Amino acid sequence: MTPLAPGEVRSTCCYCGVGCGVIIETAEGAITGVRGDPDHPANFGKLCSKGSSLHLTARPELRSSRLLHPEMRTGRDMPRARARWDEALDYVVRRFLKIISLHGPDAVAFYISGQLLTEDYYVFNKLAKGLIGTNNVDTNSRLCMSSAVAGYKQTLGADAPPCSYEDIEQAHCLFIAGSNTAFAHPIIYRRIEAARAARPGMRVIVVDPRRTDTAREADLHLAILPGTDVALFNGMLHLLLWEGLTNPAYIEAHTEGFEALKAAVREFTPKMVAEVCGISEADLTLAAKWFGESPATLSLYCQGLNQSTAGTAKNAAIINLHLATGQIGKPGAGPFSLTGQPNAMGGREVGGMANLLSAHRDLANPGHRDEVARLWGVDSVPAVPGKTAVEMFDALRTKAIRAVWVVCTNPAQSMPFQGAVHEALRNAELVVVQEAYRSTETAWYADVLLPAASWGEKEGTVTNSERRITRVRAAVPPPGQARPDWEIARDFAHKLEARMRAGKPTLFPYDTAEAVWREHRDSTRGRDLDITGLDYAMLEAAPQQWPFRQGDTQGRARLYEDGRFPTASGKARFVVTPYRPVAEPADAHYPFRLLTGRLRDQWHGMTRSGSVAKLYNHAPEPVLGVHPGDLERRGLQPGELLRVESRRGVVHALCAADDSLRQGQLFLPMHWGARFLGGRESLGVNTLTLPAYDKDSKQPELKHCAVRITRAALPWRLAAFGYTTLGSAASLLDALAPLLNEFAFASVVLMGHEEEGVLLRIADDKAPSPQVIEDIDRRFGLAQSDVLRYDDARRGVGRRVDILHGRLRGVRLSGDSPQLAAEVWLKEWLLSGEPVAAIRRFLLAPTATAPSGFAPAGKVVCSCFNVTQTQIEKHMETLSATSTDRLKALQGALRCGTNCGSCLPEVRRLTQAAAAMA
Ligand code: SF4
Repeated sequence: MTPLAPGEVRSTCCYCGVGCGVIIETAEGAITGVRGDPDHPANFGKLCSKGSSLHLTARPELRSSRLLHPEMRTGRDMPRARARWDEALDYVVRRFLKIISLHGPDAVAFYISGQLLTEDYYVFNKLAKGLIGTNNVDTNSRLCMSSAVAGYKQTLGADAPPCSYEDIEQAHCLFIAGSNTAFAHPIIYRRIEAARAARPGMRVIVVDPRRTDTAREADLHLAILPGTDVALFNGMLHLLLWEGLTNPAYIEAHTEGFEALKAAVREFTPKMVAEVCGISEADLTLAAKWFGESPATLSLYCQGLNQSTAGTAKNAAIINLHLATGQIGKPGAGPFSLTGQPNAMGGREVGGMANLLSAHRDLANPGHRDEVARLWGVDSVPAVPGKTAVEMFDALRTKAIRAVWVVCTNPAQSMPFQGAVHEALRNAELVVVQEAYRSTETAWYADVLLPAASWGEKEGTVTNSERRITRVRAAVPPPGQARPDWEIARDFAHKLEARMRAGKPTLFPYDTAEAVWREHRDSTRGRDLDITGLDYAMLEAAPQQWPFRQGDTQGRARLYEDGRFPTASGKARFVVTPYRPVAEPADAHYPFRLLTGRLRDQWHGMTRSGSVAKLYNHAPEPVLGVHPGDLERRGLQPGELLRVESRRGVVHALCAADDSLRQGQLFLPMHWGARFLGGRESLGVNTLTLPAYDKDSKQPELKHCAVRITRAALPWRLAAFGYTTLGSAASLLDALAPLLNEFAFASVVLMGHEEEGVLLRIADDKAPSPQVIEDIDRRFGLAQSDVLRYDDARRGVGRRVDILHGRLRGVRLSGDSPQLAAEVWLKEWLLSGEPVAAIRRFLLAPTATAPSGFAPAGKVVCSCFNVTQTQIEKHMETLSATSTDRLKALQGALRCGTNCGSCLPEVRRLTQAAAAMA
C-alpha cells in the first residue's frame, strides 16, 4: 500500500455509493487537501468534482456553519439556547419517557441516514428496536434504495448486489437503466469510458426519458416515456423468447416461476411496447438482441428505477431479464444496482430500516425477531412494522407519532410533498436534530440540536455498492463539542437504560467504534452477508467485500456463480411484473410531466457541496428545463421566470431551453431546497413532488409528477451579487436564507471560483419597503457612502455598484425586469476581476449589451480549472480540421477534464460538435 506522508490519513469520500477511497491531508489539526487513494479498488486514485473538493467543505472559514455545541429550547415560542451535553440529553430522555408513558413506544421515531457509518446505524437501530421497543426507525435510504432491496429479495432471495465494479471491464454489453451515471456515479463512468476505450466492441444501451450525458454517449438510447420501464423490460423478454435468446438450461436448473412470467409477457408485443414506451420497434428489438446475444451483459441501474410507485417491479423485471438469459453469476454479467448514498448498504446490513432487522433479517419473520432478541439480550423485538419515511412524517403530522429524532439528513428538503413534511415538523411535540450543520431546513424546526462529527472527523466503516467495506478514519478532531453519531446514541441509551432497566447490565457496552462493529460482525454469522472472517485489523490493511466467512482468505467479488440462491429451494424466482403507469399522469389541468434528477457537481440537499462556490459553476442557479418547442408554443423566452404548480404547491423558477427532454416534459434538479429556491409558497423542488409510494418497498415516486407552468406575474425584480467582507460567502448565504420567504420568489446561490461570492435574486408583485432593500444592500456591502448609486423612487428603480481597487465588488439592480438587463454582463465582469476604469459610465446604465470589447466567459464546463464552453469552442477553432486527436490537443492547452474527469462527456461533445462544423 502506498505509504502516507505525515499528517495524511486514509478514508472514504462521503458523497455517493461508489465509495471512493481518499487520502486526507492535514496540517496543524486542520484538513488542507484531499486526493484519491491509488490503492482503493473502487477508484484507484481518481475522484470526481465533488470528491476532489471535499477539503474545501472543511475550511476553517466555514466553521460558523457548523453546530459547535448542543442547543435546546423548552417551549416552541422560545429561542434555542446553548446547552451542556448532559442537559440536552437529559431533556430528551425526559420528553421521550413522558411521550412513551402517555402514548406508547410507537409515538417516538428515528429518521436516520445513509450518510451515517455502519456503527452509527447499528446503535440507533438497537436503541429503537432493542431498548425503546419501537420499529419506528427509518432512513433516507428509503428514498434511495428500498426498491432495489425489495427487487433483489423477491427474485434472488437476498438483498445482495451480485456484481463488482470489475465486471464493468469484463462486460460486452452494458444496459444502463434509470441512471445518469456520468453525473450520479462519475467514477463508475470513468471506468465505463476506460472499458469502452480498451474494448471498442462493447455496446452501451441507456434507458432514460432524458438525453443525459450518459445517454448521449450510448450506442443506443431508449428515450422511453417516464415510468414505462416495466413495459420495456417485459417487451424485451418477449423478444428474447421469440428470438430464442433465453437460456433454457439455466432457467431449468436455477430458477422457478418462469412459465407464469412467460405467459404474462406474451401480451408485451413489440408493437404494444413501442407504443407504451414511445420508442421505435426497431430500437426495442435491437436492445433485446444486444442484451441477449452478448456473452456478458451487465445492467447498471439507480433512482430512475427505484423512485417510483412501480420501483420494485422495475427492479424485478430487469432481474428477470438476467435470469432468463443466464446473465448472472459470471464475469461481466449481472443486475447491479448502484447505491445512491455512501453507506445505504451498511444501513441495510445492520437492518436500520422500519421493516428490517440486523444482518439482513426480516422483521416479519418471528424466528428472525427471536434471533435478534437473543443476540441483543432483550426479551423480544416488537413485531409491529415501523413507519417508513413517508408514513413516518404523515404520522407526525397527524400526531400518531409525537417525537422525531432526525440524524444526519434533511427531510425538510428531500422528502416529497414538502408542505406536509413542514407541517409535520411544525406539529411535532419534540423535534431532535443531530447534525453537523446548523443551516439545514430541518434544523429550523429543532427543539434540540445535537452537534455531530462529520467527514474527516469520525471512525468507523462504510459499505459501497459492490459490497466492499472500507475503514473510515478521523483525520482531525470534531470542532467544538461535536461528537461521533454512535457515541451520542450510546450516551442517550445509557441515560434511558437508567430509567427503563435500572440495575441490569447495559445493552450498549461500547467504548469504541470497533466494539460496535464487532457486535455487528457477530450478528452476521451464517447469514448471506457473513463477515465473521474479518476483523478491524484486516480492514485497516485493505477494504474487503462481503461475504467473508470465518476461514475465508478473501471476500467474494461475485455472487451466485454456482447457480444457488438464498431462497428456500435454492433457486432464483421469476416475478410476474405487470406494467402500471406513473401515479400522477399529465392531464388537461396539469399537462406537463415534471422529472427530477441530479446535477453533476452537487450532492443531495447541498448541505455540504453547497458551501463550495466552484461546485455551482456548472449549473449556477435553480433552473427549470423546458423543451424549446414548448417554450415557443407558449411564447416563453429562456431566462423568463415561470410559476410551476402541482396539486401540492407552487414554486417559481427561471426557465432554460433543454433539448434533452421531449415536448411536454420538464426537468428540475432535485437539489434545490427552500434554502436556495424559496418564496412565500415555495419549499424547494419537493414542494411539487408526489408522496405516493411503491406498495412493497414504500419508496416514493420522487422522479415524476404532473405540473402546469405559466409566466410568473411578478413584475418587481431584484438581483444582488458580489463578495462579502463578513466571514465567508457561505455564511452570507446562510444569513440570507431566512429572507427568502418574504418574497413571492427568491433564490440564493454561491458564485465564483477562487474568490467566492453570492447571488441573490428576488421577484414580487410590488417593491418591498426601502428598509428591506437597505437591509439587502448592507449584507452585500452596498450601503456605504462611496458606493455608486442611482434611484428613481417614483418607478421603484434602484442601482448600487461597489468598486474596490478599481474592480467590481458588488452590484444591486432593482425595478421592473428591463432594469435588470445589465445583470448578466455585470456579473461576468465582476467574476472576471477585470478593471472597470474604462467602463464607469456604463455601470449605472441598464443596458443589456456589455461594453464593446468585453467577451462574456459563458458557461463553465470544467469546474476544476474553470474552463468555459466559450474557451473550448474558441480553442477548437484554432485546431486544424485534420488534427487527429483534437481532444488531447484541447486538454494540452486548457487542461479541461484532466483532473477529476467529470466534465469529459461534455468536453467530448463540444469537440465532436466543433469537428462536425469544421
Ligand atoms: Fe465521491 Fe465522486 Fe467517488 Fe462518488 S464518485 S464516492 S462522489 S469521489
